[in-house]
Amino acid sequence: MKIGIEIHVQLNTKTKLFCSCPNYGKDEPNSRTCYICLGMPGSKPVLNKEALKKAIKVALALNCKINKETFFSRKSYFYPDLVKNFQITQYEIPIGIEGNFEGIRIRRLHLEEDPGALIHKGNICLIDYNRSGIPLIEIVTEPDFKSPNEVRIFLRKLITMLAYLDVYYRKDESTLKADANISLGGERVEIKNINGLKEIERALDYEMIRQEKEVPQAKETRRWDSEKGKTFLMRTKESEEDYGYIFEPDLPIIEISEEELTSLKKEIPELNVDKTNRYLKNYNLDKETAEVLSNDIKLGALYDFSISNGINPQMAAKWLRRDLLGFLSYDKKELKDVNINDKHLVEILKLVQDKTITDKVGKELLLKLIKKDYDVIKHIEENKLRIVADEKHLRKSCEEAINENKESIEKIKSGDYKVLNFLIGEVMRKTKGVGKPEIIVKILKQLLNIK
Ligand SMILES: [Zn+2]
Repeated sequence: MKIGIEIHVQLNTKTKLFCSCPNYGKDEPNSRTCYICLGMPGSKPVLNKEALKKAIKVALALNCKINKETFFSRKSYFYPDLVKNFQITQYEIPIGIEGNFEGIRIRRLHLEEDPGALIHKGNICLIDYNRSGIPLIEIVTEPDFKSPNEVRIFLRKLITMLAYLDVYYRKDESTLKADANISLGGERVEIKNINGLKEIERALDYEMIRQEKEVPQAKETRRWDSEKGKTFLMRTKESEEDYGYIFEPDLPIIEISEEELTSLKKEIPELNVDKTNRYLKNYNLDKETAEVLSNDIKLGALYDFSISNGINPQMAAKWLRRDLLGFLSYDKKELKDVNINDKHLVEILKLVQDKTITDKVGKELLLKLIKKDYDVIKHIEENKLRIVADEKHLRKSCEEAINENKESIEKIKSGDYKVLNFLIGEVMRKTKGVGKPEIIVKILKQLLNIK
């Protein structure tokens, strides 16, 4: 099986690719338009440099070779969402070629404009040109994927990388658009315009099974119907040449200098894949934990911040992955939905690390911090949450716990240490979580006369 994909990514520039209309903002239909993105006669496009820079950065991050001289072409076809009857895109010489990312070869990366959006309402169709002219990059892979699931894993890493580069507007798995080519040995089938990672995998899974039964005899273009869970034939495949590409005479040739490339390279931050490797190498984390931490830009930043403030890497990984993510997922939230004061978070971890507070209190403080920011130190002093190691004080709670649970004493004496853990929990509860566990164990063992 061979699968290749073409991914369309809307860039998060302030303005559109060839005019100064805002990319995002007012959503009233056709409110963010001008004579250029409406394709009025005589209007001339002017290239948005910011979009070009972002496209080059992505090409660099995908390890592409950058073409020093490139230009735009017109791809001619008629469709109501396409105001000029041609789309300004790149065909002959794209910005980047021959890259690779996560073991998949990248054939090309180019810059183009998005068409408008068609909105179907019953029997009529409305057109919103707010989208017309938003900059897109198209990333085309070689047919290197061996399964639909591989595609999904690759795309998730790609989306994270785009977030690290701060180029992708939506950052969201369900809005990524892609075309996918799949062949099981017969002719190649292209599935057009699939939205979202899950749907891409589903469409490919469906097509894989379909092609096993009916081997395609000619190149086909199909569409994915997510409600029906099936692909439908749109047309037998036209070739790219059928679009009659011609050179776009209204835009100058783009020259990319060596200096520009060097300075753009410097702007590329440490990316998720590099971060994962660094965590594996420097902190000895297991691969899954390293990937979980680096595949969320905010979580990776929190982790790096914790370590640079003296938190033990293993401990920070455990608290962020197990406790922070655990609390969030219990509330059906993601890290991006909440504002966590990173300084206060580190304060809590530090207090746990220094054994100024117990794990239990640390967890409660963390849970409170997820909900709302507060002064951690002040809260600890006011509520007397520092660890209590004073034996006299703890002995009283231990004696109470034993008196209230007489039936468990026999069990412990006969060697059932699970019951001892229960008693420790009871004492903890009595001390509101601040009793030092080691001391509690010591006293309980003394009182029960066990070793
Ligand atoms: Zn415009």
